[in-house]
Amino acid sequence: MTCLICAGHAHSVECATGWEERHCSECGGYRISQLLILAMMDQGQIFDTSKMREWLTTQRSLMPTPIIEPHHAILLS
Ligand SMILES: [Zn+2]
Repeated sequence: MTCLICAGHAHSVECATGWEERHCSECGGYRISQLLILAMMDQGQIFDTSKMREWLTTQRSLMPTPIIEPHHAILLS
């Protein structure tokens, strides 16, 4: 599996319908909305890897596996 944030190697974890959970050695674990993935693919957008990693680090003080919803996405412009 590919990490959706850095495109590195990640493994996929079974989770609720509508979500993807990935564990990347560089980005750590996160859960992401499938709607967000589809919308990004549709528009050819990619995450700003370093900014998303910072966001994940911040979120981890609140929850071990941060949940990335569409309004959390920081994209490369
Ligand atoms: Zn990654």
